[in-house]
Parts: sequence; structure tokens; C-alpha cells
Amino acid sequence: MPELALQKLTDHVYWMPPAEPDRPSLCAVVGERFTLMLDAASSDAHARLFLDQLAKNGIPAPRLVALTHWHWDHVFGAAEIGTPLIAHRLTARELAIQAAYEWTDEALDQRVAAGKEIAFCADNIKLELPAPRSIRIALPDILFDDALDIDLGGVTCLLRHVGGDHAADSVVAYIPEDRLLFLGDCLYDAVYTPVRHYTPERLFPLLDKLVTFDAQHYIEGHADTVMSYAEFNALTGKIRLAGELIAESGTDEAAVLAAAKSRTGSEPDEDLTYFVKGLIAGKLFFAK
Ligand SMILES: [Zn+2]
Repeated sequence: MPELALQKLTDHVYWMPPAEPDRPSLCAVVGERFTLMLDAASSDAHARLFLDQLAKNGIPAPRLVALTHWHWDHVFGAAEIGTPLIAHRLTARELAIQAAYEWTDEALDQRVAAGKEIAFCADNIKLELPAPRSIRIALPDILFDDALDIDLGGVTCLLRHVGGDHAADSVVAYIPEDRLLFLGDCLYDAVYTPVRHYTPERLFPLLDKLVTFDAQHYIEGHADTVMSYAEFNALTGKIRLAGELIAESGTDEAAVLAAAKSRTGSEPDEDLTYFVKGLIAGKLFFAK
């Protein structure tokens, strides 16, 4: 995948799309008084690329960075950016744990073997930051629990804790003036467990929170297109349908997909199938 250039999405928001190996979406929200960066990049190199692209486009460098959650690919560039860091209290707690770790290949492999790290992350850390690596983990400076509003001058950013299966600390950033919602990874499945999965207890309250934002543009952590409201609405409809069908038809995947076909009159698409599989995986995982 080539490095993708910064794109202006709305009046105040610039987006650098995800890239390999596991670089997430990054945004700059540009106000009259200062620029806020959303998520802190995967490495010094990724952070530097973002800062260089801002400079090339004549955009003032960020004065603050807000994190969506603690996962390495969203935070390892924070020290290079060097601004004060805003995060949920749980994110700060997780980063303090990460900051005490060693990051050599051997230490990563040991943590994978001990179940403290997942192979997917260890493999991508090795690709993003080849050995010998030095990782500086910046600890957050400004903490919040439920909500924090930031006035950038002519545009605001509302940080809201939403949780979900992917990470308990997941935060979204809403830019009301631009009707843009930066989702981070909150809609993704739980990954730090022996089986990747969703649970209705975490997924549906998350959807209930996300639909309260009057957004038209939705940016996900690792999706290379921006969702419209119609696309987001269609996606949440499929997630709710997956939940209803499993509640009615149980945890046999073929039976649930057959029920989906008879309910909708068409073959279940990739999204619906993905959420059916994830919710079933969660049910079976917790039933053990
Ligand atoms: Zn994540």
C-alpha cells in the first residue's frame, strides 16, 4: 500500500488514511486558535509523516493530541509529536502498564507466549518498528472519564467515552460544526482474548451511543473510506439484525444465516456475516 496523502474532508478536518502494516487513520482538526490531532500514530516515522504533510499543506502543527484508546498503533507516535496528550483515564492506566514493558523481539515473543500480547500486534510492531527498536511511550497529561469538550476557535471537538468490545476505554471524537465522527476502533471486535468476538452487552449499548451523534461523515481506525450517514445506518442495521437473529435462532451459524436470508430476501452480505460470526463466537466463548 503506498503512503496515502493527507485529504481535506470537511471545513476543519484533514484525514490521513490507514496504511500498512497497521497504521490507523489520523486526523487534524484545525481551528482559528490551534490544531488538535486525533490519535498519535504508530511510530516516530508515522508521526513524522503526518507532521510533514501538515506542514506541506500549510496547516499549523498540533498543539494537543487526543487518543481514542490505548492500542500501540494509535499511541506509539505520541512522544515524537511532543504535545500534551489527552486520554481517557483507562487509556492512561493501560499506557502506564505498556510503558513499563520491554519491547525487544524476545520480550514481545515472551508476552505472546504468556497470553499478555497477541501475535497480530507483535508481528505488526516488528514490521512498523524493526529491531533493534526503541519505543518511547508518552503518558497522558489531561485525563477525563465521560466527556471532554475542546474549543479550537470556530470549531469544537467533543470527546466522548463509548467503550465497546474492542477496548473498554474507547473514545470517539465528534466535530459538530462539520458533522464528522472519528470512531477510532470502537466498532471492531474484542481482540485481546483467545477468540475474537463481540458481545451483545457491549456492542448494542455502543450503537445506542453512536446514533446520538448527528453525523454525516464517519471515520474508522482502519477503514480506507469515509462512511456516509446512509452507510453507517445500513451497517448498524445489519449489526442489530445479527443480534436479533441470534437471539431467535441460537448459535448455529448456518441456521442464523438461513434465517437472515428468509428475513431479508437476499443472501447475507459480508458485513452481516461478519457480525453474526463475531456475536456467535462471543456467545460460545462465554458459555465455556
Ligand atoms: Zn485498536
